[in-house]
Amino acid sequence: MSAKPTEDLNLFHIAKRQFDAAVPFTRDLEGWRGVAEWLFRPERMIKVTLPVVMDDGYVHTYTGFRVLHDTARGPGKGGIRFHPNVDEDEIKALATWMSWKCALTEIPFGGAKGGVECDPTRLSTQEKRRITRRFIAALGDNIGPHTDIPAPDLYTDAQTMAWVYDTYSMMHPGENNLPVVTGKPLDLGGSLGRETATAQGLLFVLEHMIEMGALPGLAGLEGASVAIQGFGNAGRNAARLFRNAGAAVVGVSDTRGGIYDPSGLDVARVESHKDETGSVVDLPDTKPLDHREVLEVPCDVLVPAAIESQITSENAERVQAAVVIEAANGPTTPEADDILGDRGIPVVPDILSASGGVVVSYFEWAQNLGNEQWEEADIHNRLQQKMKRATEAVVTTRAALIENMERYQEAWSRVQPKAPKLRRPTLRTAAHVVAIERCRRTAEQRGIWP
Ligand code: NAD
Repeated sequence: MSAKPTEDLNLFHIAKRQFDAAVPFTRDLEGWRGVAEWLFRPERMIKVTLPVVMDDGYVHTYTGFRVLHDTARGPGKGGIRFHPNVDEDEIKALATWMSWKCALTEIPFGGAKGGVECDPTRLSTQEKRRITRRFIAALGDNIGPHTDIPAPDLYTDAQTMAWVYDTYSMMHPGENNLPVVTGKPLDLGGSLGRETATAQGLLFVLEHMIEMGALPGLAGLEGASVAIQGFGNAGRNAARLFRNAGAAVVGVSDTRGGIYDPSGLDVARVESHKDETGSVVDLPDTKPLDHREVLEVPCDVLVPAAIESQITSENAERVQAAVVIEAANGPTTPEADDILGDRGIPVVPDILSASGGVVVSYFEWAQNLGNEQWEEADIHNRLQQKMKRATEAVVTTRAALIENMERYQEAWSRVQPKAPKLRRPTLRTAAHVVAIERCRRTAEQRGIWP
């Protein structure tokens, strides 16, 4: 039995600590004068009560949230999740990270996120449909093609997005409502490449970092060993893409547990087993693991692709990967970041490596506005360009921050004389600096109303 981490796992506090770690590396510190606080605070938080008739006639009252973080760069964009842990602070953090993701990948959106506190594993399809419809009706005109555009996230999928579209469309007849939501089924205005976008984006980032020499512990994907926590949209597609790139997927896990084979799992066999039994566990000829143990197997690349706060101060010392690359949002806590950093294990941060989904969501939105359908190869190339540019911005910014460390330290000590010594900037800090600077620039260009 592993000990519980003693650190603060409140996700919004974690988002704030990551933001605060980046602030000393931004330009013109004296000039911020309160802007930083405004930039960090969410613009709007909506909480709705959702009475839903269950299949057995019981009326269950759910709570739904939708948070708009920052719309200076465009309408809000972000997924909707169904999960028992959903609460306001979690959704606020996820919306904040969406703002940084959109800025980092230079797509014209701000950050948003939504969720319903429920246990999707205990819901029938019809119950999920009723929750979705009631939630979207309750949000009313707080979402819209030019105001706030949802997408799939944890335990929601293309089917859920079809219900979102249909509900919104019933409320706005006679309009092109397709751009109100992304991640829709292909027949309903969805985009080619959206299903695999998050995993594909992650591989593009990793490949480009290797090309740039930014991950000294990793020479290439051919022959590399990979462990993945989570076997849903992000994790399962990542497993397939890593295998196609010549890597050996040695461990995977889902909520029920994990499996391990140091010589490489047969990914197609794992997928059929998951489809047949609902889980990856008990696949014959593999070693069983606990659902978090997969984070500790020896591997070149570790991909947390399940939920938040999985790599913490409690297990970071036992991570045996050369590189951690995040597919989930917020899987690594700040304490774990420090431990991994001190151990020389780079962590490629979610706001960069998990941004492929929102990039292709943007492509879907653009296609819907023009009633077009782009070719898959076109989407693939466009995604690659976006991920490359974002990766380059993060890697070069980090190098520049490290080079000018003394200057940043001096400036920060002038503004905050009692503050502790700055830590050497990580990829996460550099990614935040790029994103925050872009959001700040837009806010300054627009000016603060009135
Ligand atoms: P999903 O619902 O498709 O899959 C989630 C997977 O994680 C399932 O296999 C589930 O069994 C597993 N899981 C859940 N809790 C677990 C635990 N405690 N231990 C081990 N496995 C666990 O969700 P998804 O869309 O793949 O999202 C996964 C993560 O990726 C989330 O953090 C999400 O926010 C993030 N993400 C998703 C997208 C997207 O486009 N779907 C984009 C960016 C980031």
